[in-house]
Amino acid sequence: MKVKVIGAGLAGCEAVWQLVKQGIDVDLYEMKPVKYSPAHSNENFAELVCSNSLKADRIENACGLLKEEMRMFDSVMMEAADISRVPAGGALAVDRDVFAKHITEKIKNHPRVTVFNEEVTEINPDEYTIIATGPLTSDGLADEIKKITGSDELYFYDAAAPIVTEESIDKDKVFKAARYDKGTADYINCPMTKEEYTAFYNELITAETAPLKEFENQKVFEGCMPVEVMAKRGEQTLVFGPLKPVGLVNPKTGKDDAYAVVQLRQDNKEGTLYNLVGFQTNLKWGEQKRVFSMIPGLENAEFVRYGVMHRNTYINSPTLLNKYYQMEKYPKVFFAGQITGVEGYVESASSGILAGYNMAAMLNGKDMFEPDSKTCIGALPLYISNSANTKFQPMNANFGIIDGLNERIRNKAERYNKIANRALDIMKDKLKGENDDE
Ligand code: FAD
Repeated sequence: MKVKVIGAGLAGCEAVWQLVKQGIDVDLYEMKPVKYSPAHSNENFAELVCSNSLKADRIENACGLLKEEMRMFDSVMMEAADISRVPAGGALAVDRDVFAKHITEKIKNHPRVTVFNEEVTEINPDEYTIIATGPLTSDGLADEIKKITGSDELYFYDAAAPIVTEESIDKDKVFKAARYDKGTADYINCPMTKEEYTAFYNELITAETAPLKEFENQKVFEGCMPVEVMAKRGEQTLVFGPLKPVGLVNPKTGKDDAYAVVQLRQDNKEGTLYNLVGFQTNLKWGEQKRVFSMIPGLENAEFVRYGVMHRNTYINSPTLLNKYYQMEKYPKVFFAGQITGVEGYVESASSGILAGYNMAAMLNGKDMFEPDSKTCIGALPLYISNSANTKFQPMNANFGIIDGLNERIRNKAERYNKIANRALDIMKDKLKGENDDE
């Protein structure tokens, strides 16, 4: 039995490694060096297209925890990272060439792998296939993916608003209410006085934006305008738009006298994450923290994800995938990597591990890996496949999507350490005996 893996990026390589480890032959299709996406430039597999950092290296950070969990799967990315590590303080940064070369050699030279350097533009849902073509999937394949997912189920850019943790919002300054008291009071409202709004507005319109790559052209903005662009149209534009205060009565005062109100919408089922409604933005991350922390109630907010605007092809996973990264409609087809709506190098690789592992398990008549929401590698597929996410936006590793503890620990580092150690114990238990024959 052979599996076709499309895309030799971070997710594709991890998927291949899990498949061959479990005795499955792989045909790996990679369009480089015949064709390059606008961000790729090197013929090696697993190219890091931008930063050379794989983020934090400690388990008290969710991405650090994810990396430790991936090591338990014998991750090819983590092996390469350890070999190519460069000094970067608390982060795990790598020499990108050494990193990519190590993975390329390991995958290319494996006797079970056959590499085809060609662009795939057709998918047969009756063939065992893992699609891992990333955020810059070629146009020809994107059209084909639309055919198997449905044309409304593929997004072409990311226009995401920042997300903060619920526990970091100052509850003394905000209130829950439904506009005109209609429906349930689901939104957290951050009321602003005229003075607060004016100060915020002046910083917003002068804050520094991130440079856009050539391929992330202005078309991106037509359907989904960044908050800073909207603000520049006039001082009142936001007050009559996403920050309109009308009909929002503060139960603490019984009045609806705020000058402007920023609304926060629940972002996950557990209610641990909230996004800033209408705040899709292209501001630099540091600027987002500085300016959005001026919103009453968000002074000490923990931003688990910043707003981004860039080309990003991803499917509507909540309606298309189950928790194993497998298509509901075509069980022989799995997706992996950024195209599933996980976001980031490490997150993408982690989904490749599970997609490859699960495909192999299916072919070998074994149980697939049951994701656990107390672990990071499990919380990600549970999040992206959750059909409660009606307005689906990509998600990176963070403690907001991992189950909290039953006890209250005020110190954040201590709390995250405990959650992380619990996750690692669960993973050890789940993977007992897995790598024994290596
Ligand atoms: P990729 O690593 O992109 O791999 C996909 C592979 O599929 C590529 O090799 C591509 O050539 C191939 N391919 C595409 N179409 C076809 C086809 N039709 N046939 C055959 N092969 C095909 N994340 C971070 O954590 N840090 C960052 O600094 C960062 N910077 C980013 C910058 C940009 C411009 C973009 C777009 C994304 C960035 N990301 C970053 C997000 C993301 O984590 C990376 O894009 C990551 O590489 C995704 O991994 P992947 O395996 O899903 O896709």
